[in-house]
Amino acid sequence: METYRQALVCGLGGSGEAAAALLRAEGTDVSVIDRASTDDLRARAAALEQQGVKVLLGAGTLPGGPFDVCVASPGVPPSSPWLAEARERGLRVVSELELGWSRCRARTAAITGSNGKSTAVKLLAESLRLAGLKAEPGGNYGPAICRLALEHKDLDWVVLEVSTFQLETVDRFRPDVGILLNIHPNHLDRHGDMATYTRLKARLFARTRPGDICLVHEPVLAETRSLSGGKGRWSSFGVSAGSDYRYERGWVWRGGKALADFRGTHFGNEVLGLAAAAVVGGLEACGAGPDGAVRAARTFKPLPHRMEPLGEIRGVSYVNDSKATNLSALAAALRMTPGRVRLIAGGLVKEKDFSFVKEMLAQRVQGVYLIGQASEEMASAWSDVVPCFRCQTLDAAVRKAGSDALAGETVLLSPACASFDQFRNFEERGQRFAGLVKDLAEEEAK
Ligand code: ADP
Repeated sequence: METYRQALVCGLGGSGEAAAALLRAEGTDVSVIDRASTDDLRARAAALEQQGVKVLLGAGTLPGGPFDVCVASPGVPPSSPWLAEARERGLRVVSELELGWSRCRARTAAITGSNGKSTAVKLLAESLRLAGLKAEPGGNYGPAICRLALEHKDLDWVVLEVSTFQLETVDRFRPDVGILLNIHPNHLDRHGDMATYTRLKARLFARTRPGDICLVHEPVLAETRSLSGGKGRWSSFGVSAGSDYRYERGWVWRGGKALADFRGTHFGNEVLGLAAAAVVGGLEACGAGPDGAVRAARTFKPLPHRMEPLGEIRGVSYVNDSKATNLSALAAALRMTPGRVRLIAGGLVKEKDFSFVKEMLAQRVQGVYLIGQASEEMASAWSDVVPCFRCQTLDAAVRKAGSDALAGETVLLSPACASFDQFRNFEERGQRFAGLVKDLAEEEAK
């Protein structure tokens, strides 16, 4: 393990804070910089300063100093002038993920993909625990890996959610078990085209060695394998007959053998069934049997804002899928929702091609209730197949969808867009939706 005398950490989010604390505990002289200077950051800075870390908020340029490493938080893009300057000064730039991983004694299962990562990380970590192993989830989901490395020294496994943003800046990271859930168009505003995006996802496996496991969604296995050049043992999951772990009508199969029964659980559908197949494969790769996954699925509490049921009013179900920030997630939400749907969508557009969900909208959706900046684009793409109502705000959309909906239908918030035009983040959008649904229920009860 490489140790450092003097480190500079860029970005004081939860990851930057954890990286600074971890390095400080090793006796490194640590400075942290952040461009902003909010109350939250000042509170974090005060806690770190007590440990002897220097913090510079509202920073413009890099401080001078004989640093021997620069740690990049996941929120700081690789194109950041700070990182460019650090490289120019000859500093080694390390991502927080790679720093934490290099200090982690536990074995690592890392999950990436365009959609469903958090859900799969939660299921795999809970499954490992039910199989009797000490496991913690982390990375983008839960505590930063530097925090896990600092505070949990006795784990068997860490299960990490890894985003494309983090994969951009790793070069030594090597998970014992790597899982690629799926590749859909996502964040192309930042990564350019699909080829670049796929190449970045494949980096998860680039340094794998014989004995490591690379588990990939079957349709993208060949491309991922050749792009990454990883030397691990490759296997696949999916719905096709050629998949090593195959999901079919509620069951996960390996070869001709039914391994695990997910019927009646959150995962017993064609979308999350794929995550279940990946988790069963991941569990076996971690040396545990599939029973843990079935038990974990039976007690699984869906994460907030991901296909979260909010209850029924006049026989109409309300479902909060505010986390659906791209069209693939919207398509998945429609596949997971039985019966007819009143869809609330819109916000800040991340994609250009709206056409691939049209057939599904035509078949399943009674009306689209549009909010935010995307309204015009979505209405012009879809109004020939489904009635589109420009509601502008979420409040107006919930009122109209709620009054139009008939018993047996579902009012689904699955916006297919980012939220930043009207909300702070997808959580605030989902909370607002839940609040509006609660108001409707109370009015109805009067
Ligand atoms: P991530 O951590 O990758 O953002 P989440 O588990 O938070 O994933 O889910 C994000 C969104 O993606 C949710 O709306 C969820 O319902 C949807 N989703 C889950 N699995 C899939 C899938 N296989 N394909 C498309 N969307 C999915």
